[in-house]
Amino acid sequence: MPGIVTPPRLYIPGPTEVAADVLAAQTQPLVGHRSTEFTDLFYRVAGKLKPLLLTEQHVYIATCSGSGLQEAAVRNGIKPGRKVLHPVNGAFSERWHQVAVGNGCEAVRVDLPWGQPIRLEDLDPHLAAGGFDAVALVHNETSTGVMSDIGSIAAQVRQRYPDVLLMVDAVSSAGGVRIPFDEWELDLLLTSSQKCLALPPGLAFAAVSDRFLARAREVPFRGWYFDLLLLEKYFSDGRTTPATPAISLLYAADRQFDRMLAEGLEARWARHAQGMQLTHAWAHKHGFTLFPEPGYESPTITCIRNNRDVDVAVMVKHAKARGLVIGNGYGKLKGQTFRIAHMGELTPAQMEELFVVLDEFLS
Ligand code: PLP
Repeated sequence: MPGIVTPPRLYIPGPTEVAADVLAAQTQPLVGHRSTEFTDLFYRVAGKLKPLLLTEQHVYIATCSGSGLQEAAVRNGIKPGRKVLHPVNGAFSERWHQVAVGNGCEAVRVDLPWGQPIRLEDLDPHLAAGGFDAVALVHNETSTGVMSDIGSIAAQVRQRYPDVLLMVDAVSSAGGVRIPFDEWELDLLLTSSQKCLALPPGLAFAAVSDRFLARAREVPFRGWYFDLLLLEKYFSDGRTTPATPAISLLYAADRQFDRMLAEGLEARWARHAQGMQLTHAWAHKHGFTLFPEPGYESPTITCIRNNRDVDVAVMVKHAKARGLVIGNGYGKLKGQTFRIAHMGELTPAQMEELFVVLDEFLS
């Protein structure tokens, strides 16, 4: 039996493990957020974020988790009296719809079976009816392990409905999968620090198009904390933020973004894809099937159908007792599925260590 891993190693879809030197970077002494030390740091981190998010347009760093930027998207992208379209194929696309409703948006929900990707034909009849300012797409549904083909949806929406903004939640995919923001002509992409970027929770990052900012100028009430035009003004005038940011986390981001760029994005994406392949092979070896519709399996998180009727809660406990943490199914899929993440810093060798422990349980 392998030794107990301490502290526990996380194979859940966030938070993911943070490298020791990145954790340690947070202990640097604090500086004021109007000081040159801070403005240098903030400018530096934003500069590294652009290649990581594959954009030459605007990037924003917010002190909040990803849900905060879901709120920013609907507050800034939708004019009064106009609508936002929410295809819902899992728990997090459902959450984004709730965020829009909670902000008073006219948010049209299109329910799709969990496990299916979003397709243009699900959106088209609604968009064709008119009145939409934006579509809100979750790229990688963490609850079901489904990754939708946002590139092709974006190309078709852009062509048929040029005024509809493309807002993408890439919370569990950015940094683990190639998402060419500028090439796909997306308008807003949001992500959280604690998943494929392998930082502690507490920061959220966005790439934003010129087109999106032009829309925001037409929206009279954008709130304050998540007003992208205010964030833009503070960044361009003074390389700082309107409110006090999580400075310690920015030290960590500065370090982690260097590590990511040194690994190389292609190598990082390949490592995530390899984690997926190993996980699929392990699942198939044991007679499990995968939850997502074939062809749409996520390279960052695998959702496995419990077709062998194992006691998932006991299996999760078994792994935890050995210091390895996997996820039960999310929400209504609890017990019916279980989830193994291969995101962030996880290596193929660490995936194999997990499979040894799960093999032991299954035998
Ligand atoms: N969107 C997706 C796809 C997620 O997986 C999550 C969290 O797991 C969220 C949004 C919410 O992100 P956060 O917890 O960082 O607010």
